[in-house]
Amino acid sequence: MIQTLTVLGATGSIGQSTLDVVRRHPDRYRIFALSAARSVARMRDDIAEFSPRFAVMTDAQAAADLRSSLPAGCRTEILTGGDALSMIASHTDVNVVMAAIVGAAGLLPTLAAAEAGKRVLLANKESLVMAGPLFMQAVRAGGATLLPIDSEHNAIFQALPQSYDGDFAAHGIRKILLTASGGPFRGYRAAQLESVTPAQAVAHPNWSMGQKISVDSATLMNKGLELIEACFLFNCVPDDIQVVVHPQSVIHSMVQYCDGSVIAQLGQPDMRTPIAYGLAWPERIDAGVQSLDLFSIARLDFTPPDEMTFPCLSLAKQAFNAGGTMPAVLNAANEVAVDAFLREQIPFSVIPTLIARVMAQHEVQPVQHLADVMAADQWARDCALAQSATVPGRVNL
Ligand code: NAD
Ligand code: MG
Repeated sequence: MIQTLTVLGATGSIGQSTLDVVRRHPDRYRIFALSAARSVARMRDDIAEFSPRFAVMTDAQAAADLRSSLPAGCRTEILTGGDALSMIASHTDVNVVMAAIVGAAGLLPTLAAAEAGKRVLLANKESLVMAGPLFMQAVRAGGATLLPIDSEHNAIFQALPQSYDGDFAAHGIRKILLTASGGPFRGYRAAQLESVTPAQAVAHPNWSMGQKISVDSATLMNKGLELIEACFLFNCVPDDIQVVVHPQSVIHSMVQYCDGSVIAQLGQPDMRTPIAYGLAWPERIDAGVQSLDLFSIARLDFTPPDEMTFPCLSLAKQAFNAGGTMPAVLNAANEVAVDAFLREQIPFSVIPTLIARVMAQHEVQPVQHLADVMAADQWARDCALAQSATVPGRVNL
């Protein structure tokens, strides 16, 4: 049976890679809906190619521009607003939802897809970091199938036993080995980080990605968010996870078992591999990705992370251990800090300082409802904005 697909964040790096895999398998997948914030030209081209029933532009002006740029007779309905995003994520005619919006903006539609029992391909790690227990509960209650797309978590999913149900001991699991490339500033000392620019930070050595996750990779916050993501996905705690810096990004993560075995997933640093795996699971389909040439790779290196120079990883562990609203606060403060850095308002080295200050001011609350998460997110954004106005090195534009 042909699968119908909604791609949230279709114009981004993951969204476009998803459309490339779908393009190769017209017999298996049909696009039901696409969404973006404001990339009108990209969306117009994707509508022409995939003829979705709906396209949602969250920016109202972009929706109006898109409508007026479509050729006469185009049958795609253009919508705008948050409710429209949740509608295309939960519509009864949709089987699969690719959650590839960046940041907290992805939470509500991704949750809607989980509640509606869809096959949810989760790239938007921020939604799980913010609302992990609520999100996993929604997956269970809705009967959704949650497949991790983040390359590390996809690798771990592939290396775990098929029957894994969240019990490390019962499956003889000793540790998850979460690999990290180390980002563009691997090996830098703290003093060297003070003068790095946004252009240097987004130039990732191995992966081509959106701006926000590229900066997160440079600060190691991406690994911190991924550590929290792994704890929620695989029902474990930070002590069950060893971060391993592996600069070649050939091994995408590993699982260590009690008999001494380590099972790893290897591949090109190309997100079409985990995307194709999520789309077809438990089958496999062509992703358009070449096989690895081990002889040209020749060697693989491994070192421990430098948590002193890159404190964001420890901040993330602290946030998970504090629990309740703290992971949402970490995530929101990070989004504000990264945005300020990309606008050249704060230096790179202030990103962790700002997040630590916001976390230090937060009184952790238990999370019972989505409103608790949204309130913590808003509080942390306000606090981070106020703090960023006073941090040393701030540039007022
Ligand atoms: P990107 O910046 O390239 O694309 C983001 C998409 O979200 C775009 O379509 C954009 O229009 C849309 N968007 C942005 N802000 C929005 C808002 N406020 N409301 C609605 N839509 C909005 O990002 P990306 O690199 O594709 O990453 C997407 C998600 O996938 C992130 O959560 C990231 O952490 C995760 N991820 C990405 C990669 C990667 O290789 N790029 C790998 C693993 C995980
Ligand atoms: Mg990743």
